[in-house]
Amino acid sequence: MRRIDHPLEHQSLGRQTQVTSLHFGPSGQGPKAYVQASLHAEELPGMLAAFHLRALLAAAEEQGRLRGEVVLVPVANPIGLAQRLDHKSMGRFELGSSENFNRHYPDLAAAIHAGIKDQLGNDTTRNTALVRTAVRAWVDQWQPSNALQSLRKILVALACDADLVLDLHCDCEAVLHLYTETPCWPRLEPLSRLLGARAVLLAQDAGGVSFDECFSGLWWKLAARLKQDGLDHPLAQACASATVELRSEAEVSHDLAAADAAAIFGFLQREGIIDGPAPALPAALCAATPLSGSQTVKAPVAGLLVFAAQTGDLLRTGDTVAEIIDPIANTTMSVLAEVDGVMYARTDDRYVLPDDDIANIAGSVPFRTGSLLGA
Ligand SMILES: [Zn+2]
Repeated sequence: MRRIDHPLEHQSLGRQTQVTSLHFGPSGQGPKAYVQASLHAEELPGMLAAFHLRALLAAAEEQGRLRGEVVLVPVANPIGLAQRLDHKSMGRFELGSSENFNRHYPDLAAAIHAGIKDQLGNDTTRNTALVRTAVRAWVDQWQPSNALQSLRKILVALACDADLVLDLHCDCEAVLHLYTETPCWPRLEPLSRLLGARAVLLAQDAGGVSFDECFSGLWWKLAARLKQDGLDHPLAQACASATVELRSEAEVSHDLAAADAAAIFGFLQREGIIDGPAPALPAALCAATPLSGSQTVKAPVAGLLVFAAQTGDLLRTGDTVAEIIDPIANTTMSVLAEVDGVMYARTDDRYVLPDDDIANIAGSVPFRTGSLLGA
């Protein structure tokens, strides 16, 4: 294993922060996987899964079983990890800019399109290599203007030429679920089975350019641009990336993290990055559904939130998700499911204001448009 420390640029005077990447297996040959944890810094189940995955990767490397490189970043957001307000972790938004740490990644297809379109030809493998070279060159010349952008550049530089990118998150209270772009789904379906995902939310350009979409989006967006140019150069969907939501913020346990690490390791075996017999695939626990069919259940009024539904419950339209109680007016308002599907996540607040998001239900019929991700 090689450890590389990447100092952030543009830090405040007297301050030093770095991102550390751990590299297993041969670099520059074979397939490459990139796994990071806790980009939203208060989401810690992935950090513990990375700790367990590191041990598995180190043992596999010792046994000479790495056919390609696996890059592991167990602490992807040292800026957010240090942020506190009123004794609470503040790891989702950078306090200085209010920017979500998992948004505003570059549109790599737009960045390289003009420079690459005349270089591509009829050989898919060669096209993949040319695109990766162009992306690496663009990332090298990217001049971040502040420490947050510098963090984004470091992470993008580590992941931009990977065949597989997994960004490990969690929700407030949730069952295990995945977000991925539709073109990645056929390749990631075995991962969702190994992890025991209870919901899979598919979209194509969900809005905001999250970390995972930066890498999967490169390929299908570039293919779309070439088509617009009237060019028919074959371009593979050469990167499959996903945001993996490892249940709830408070579910940080060795048992769960070891199982999640084993699932990811097994998927790396299936992908041919690690030698050895890959584990058998368990049955899928859910079907993939469109992110545009997912209901974000809102609080219509202010009050005390009492859930009727638990995470993982299969709800029908009209089922009670929660009650909102106003003990001054002495009223109870029921909040109902408007789609059929699994309630895969819910807030951990128990007092809500009007229009607050309180839960998510994975409906199968698309109905939402525009930006599909929450704040
Ligand atoms: Zn997150």
